[in-house]
Amino acid sequence: MSNASTLEVRILVLAPRGRDAFLITTTLSNDGMSAVTCPDDEALVVRLQEGAAAAIVAEEALTQDGLKSIAECLAGQPPWSDIPIVVLTSSGRASLASIRRAKELEALGNVTFVERPARPDTVRSSMRAALRARMRQYQMRHRQETLARVNTDLERFAYSASHDLQEPIRNVAIYSEILSMRYGNLLDETGLEFLGNVRTSAIRMQSLVQDLLAYTQAASISDDVPEPTDTMAAYKSALSNLAQSIPADASITSDPLPPVRIRAVHLQQMFQNLIGNAIKYRSERPLRIRVSANLKDEVWTFAVEDNGIGIDPQYSELIFGIFKRLHSQQQYPGTGIGLAICQRIAERYRGRIWVESKPGSGSRFLFTVPA
Ligand code: ADP
Repeated sequence: MSNASTLEVRILVLAPRGRDAFLITTTLSNDGMSAVTCPDDEALVVRLQEGAAAAIVAEEALTQDGLKSIAECLAGQPPWSDIPIVVLTSSGRASLASIRRAKELEALGNVTFVERPARPDTVRSSMRAALRARMRQYQMRHRQETLARVNTDLERFAYSASHDLQEPIRNVAIYSEILSMRYGNLLDETGLEFLGNVRTSAIRMQSLVQDLLAYTQAASISDDVPEPTDTMAAYKSALSNLAQSIPADASITSDPLPPVRIRAVHLQQMFQNLIGNAIKYRSERPLRIRVSANLKDEVWTFAVEDNGIGIDPQYSELIFGIFKRLHSQQQYPGTGIGLAICQRIAERYRGRIWVESKPGSGSRFLFTVPA
């Protein structure tokens, strides 16, 4: 069992007929299981919320209101949880009402029916199975919690490492520059070359660390849904930030872009990374970039399309990984973080990002945003 509290291993029993309740609790207790009797279905709901491994319920003990509260309680379970419920069905001929209740219960989720009169053995084995299933859910929760903790620690580490590394790296870049200006004449050719290497590496490290910082900051976006952002304005500021690198032959056009619920700074970052890449990975042809937006099923899909060098489809997922690049620094400079940042932003806003492309035929990057 992993990290389950005493409350979480108990089995709740709802069986109004004294004999049934007694039989069940004794059967379970004799088998080492912790059984707690609930006087009515409202008490069952309260205890379910406090924590339980499973519940065993006599069908006739469920009122219509109680069923509703149980349904709400089950619907509000966290993703890892699917609490097992064993229902003792009516003995003899089932009434219409009890058939309907049974159907409603079945729709609630992890429900097993046991026909009465139930033998103690049957009750015992069905509760053991329910308990085993619940323990696996607790293990899953434990794994998820551990993963989330490790993830947060990693985020924190990446953030402070990239933040704290900025200053020393800047100093290496500055002092290597000063060294070459003031004392360059004291060095021979090899010495100057070495110094040049120090500076180039420091500058590269600077951009890696800056991008890594941007990547960790993209993760700290809060979950609340922001007010609609002026997408056209975000697109225009992305273009103005890229102005220096837009070649004279470029044609960059866009459809009217709808306001969407992504913070302006993040929308701009996405456009800047995607349009920046379209410029960087251009082909010999005059550069054409088109930005568009389409609404379908309450979801906006934005596309940034270019006529550049394209991407082999076998790499269409890999390129979104952090530090993943398809070219050397000499061919195309870069850190391999831009698309990873875009993916983080898209996913944080409950969207996704992908690419459609072929080598030599340009690329189309698409991302979705809930409308
Ligand atoms: P970087 O551009 O710094 O390498 P990115 O994460 O932005 O990092 O992109 C990852 C890789 O995806 C790039 O190295 C490049 O190989 C490929 N790529 C991205 N955008 C395009 C594009 N528009 N056309 C062709 N290849 C692209």
